[in-house]
Amino acid sequence: MAYASELALKLVPYTAGEQPKDRKIIKLNTNENPYPPSPEVEKAIAGLVPQLRLYPDMEATGVREAIADYLGLTPDKVFCGNGSDEVLAFAFAAFFAGKQVISPDISYSFYPVYASLFGAKLTQVPLREDFTVDVAAMQKDHPIVLANPNAPTSLALQNSSLRELAIHTRSHGEILLVDEAYAEFARENAVSLLEEFDNLLIVRTFSKSHGLAGMRVGFAVGSPELIGYLRRVRDSFNSYPLDRLAQAAAEAAMRDSGYMRKQCEKIIDSRDWAIRKLRENGVTVLDSQTNFLFVKADETDASGIQKSLREAGILVRHFKAGRLNPYLRISIGTQEEMEQVVDKLLSLIRK
Ligand code: PMP
Repeated sequence: MAYASELALKLVPYTAGEQPKDRKIIKLNTNENPYPPSPEVEKAIAGLVPQLRLYPDMEATGVREAIADYLGLTPDKVFCGNGSDEVLAFAFAAFFAGKQVISPDISYSFYPVYASLFGAKLTQVPLREDFTVDVAAMQKDHPIVLANPNAPTSLALQNSSLRELAIHTRSHGEILLVDEAYAEFARENAVSLLEEFDNLLIVRTFSKSHGLAGMRVGFAVGSPELIGYLRRVRDSFNSYPLDRLAQAAAEAAMRDSGYMRKQCEKIIDSRDWAIRKLRENGVTVLDSQTNFLFVKADETDASGIQKSLREAGILVRHFKAGRLNPYLRISIGTQEEMEQVVDKLLSLIRK
């Protein structure tokens, strides 16, 4: 006999990358932005303390309007939540609970956790040998969830493939959920497909491109019908997922899209520099469209290299699972941090 429910006992929770207190560490393990958010954020949240006695706007109207303006949509197509993790959780509850749902076998590792929490049966379709999504094999007459660009592989599907998946899911009366956490670092994104597909839901976050991981703001864009289902789930769980500080910060960051794009371009430049440098030295790195690299650091198991990097004060992520074992996921830091990590990595790989 345990105090816990059967549900709680059978959960296998997600393991997040560690958040060390040591400031000297080069932290490249959770795909955070190495640069601070827009200076407009600080101005927006300064002076808000007296207002904290009041509950925030349930609908996060200002943030939704800013997102809608940036993406060329109307605010009724936008939903905000406490990080995209929460938005994804609401989407699993709204669209997948009690159903079968298709996902690549290698993708964001929170999907299986949400599936088990909400009683969905997740069918995982193996990525191809080269880690690309097998688009034909994903078409199994059920709703689909995928991260695009994918994590931790950093590879992206083209819109033509997403279109094929949207058509297939629509023909079965199901949704296509595209997790675009890394969209601002990619060549394409699926927003232009929203006009054509009322069964397409795109989830994004302020954590990576806007440098606001500590604020916990994510959002979904899709048809008003889909947004309405997310609101039903939210209002059955927590009416106020975004506090006042988060709303002010996110609205200011979204309105300052020039600053955000500039930081993303810097990250993309450092990323492409690191890829070139590693490849010149014979290291296999996948073609990243994200703010992280997926690097083959060992023939069989990169955990030793991860450990050595850690001893050198550099945190990166290793996934101990089958095909991922030889690889490390390395978030893009500042150019200076990337130079240090590339140097260290090359010295360890060559040993
Ligand atoms: N989706 C993907 C693919 C991610 O890698 C992450 C970051 N761990 C998230 C969603 C969640 O981001 P957040 O909750 O910070 O918005």
